[in-house]
Amino acid sequence: MFTDIHSPLQQLKHPLLPQLWIKRDDLIDPYISGNKWRKLKYLLSKARTENKQHLVTFGGAYSNHLLATAAAASRAGLKSTAFVRGEIVKNEMLMLCQLFGMTLIFVDRTSYKDKTSLFQQYFGEDPDAFFIDEGGASLEAVTGCAEIIAELPTDIDHIFCAAGTGTTAAGLLKGIHARGLKTTLHVVPALKGAEFIAEEIFNYLRHTDQLILHTDYHFGGYAKTKPELIDFMKTFIREQGVLVDPVYTAKMMYAIYDLAEKDYFKKEDKIVALHTGGLMGILGMKDKFLLNPL
Ligand SMILES: *Cc1c(COP(=O)(O)O)cnc(C)c1O
Repeated sequence: MFTDIHSPLQQLKHPLLPQLWIKRDDLIDPYISGNKWRKLKYLLSKARTENKQHLVTFGGAYSNHLLATAAAASRAGLKSTAFVRGEIVKNEMLMLCQLFGMTLIFVDRTSYKDKTSLFQQYFGEDPDAFFIDEGGASLEAVTGCAEIIAELPTDIDHIFCAAGTGTTAAGLLKGIHARGLKTTLHVVPALKGAEFIAEEIFNYLRHTDQLILHTDYHFGGYAKTKPELIDFMKTFIREQGVLVDPVYTAKMMYAIYDLAEKDYFKKEDKIVALHTGGLMGILGMKDKFLLNPL
């Protein structure tokens, strides 16, 4: 396994924001991408300490977390199994999971909801099995994500991140407070009705100081897009040479650009967007990007 990754900070070209940077956690690894590596790091050490040989986790059929767990397990010499939500499907993400040696168990949406009982039912008797929650959500994941802050300059005014469960955001906020920074954390949820993310963060940290949620950039909900998001994404990638994904990171970048146009920032503000990775997921959205035959 690799240790001590310090992902690069790259400046973006933006006419209104001369101090806009992107923290390239997507470059940590193509498969154990971005925040999923940060979230797994201390879970893997815990599994090792407890002498567990088999990671068992949960996710949807396009989950970046499943792919990250599969790749991380194979590199650490561990077995991996995933409970996949919903009917049996074949896709590129699950194919990659299987190539990394992951066993897939498809479960209907009702059974999927009770993860502890699924784990008990299949692996209750297996002393090697190590439970990892959906998306890697855990205190260990918060600790891993807090380390991102230690890799950044101390004078950043605004840090932006996309959110699903809010675990990554909780870690960033923890890091900001641990270092006593004045930085504001801006969270852009990828799903609709995501006010729960503030509660999630509160549950981990017992406060939500210096946090702002921008709940209006979900584009219809989780994994939903609109033509304006796809257009933005194509322009962004062409102009910056940085790939973003339609589920998370494009929505975050769209929010920053939109807020800039609405004069939300001061011109001299230093802004860092966290690239949380997730680029393999684009494979599942080919239809939106492939050229039509002429
Ligand atoms: C999983 C994921 C997120 C969401 O992270 P949470 O910690 O669940 O909020 C954000 N961006 C990408 C690319 C992801 O794969």
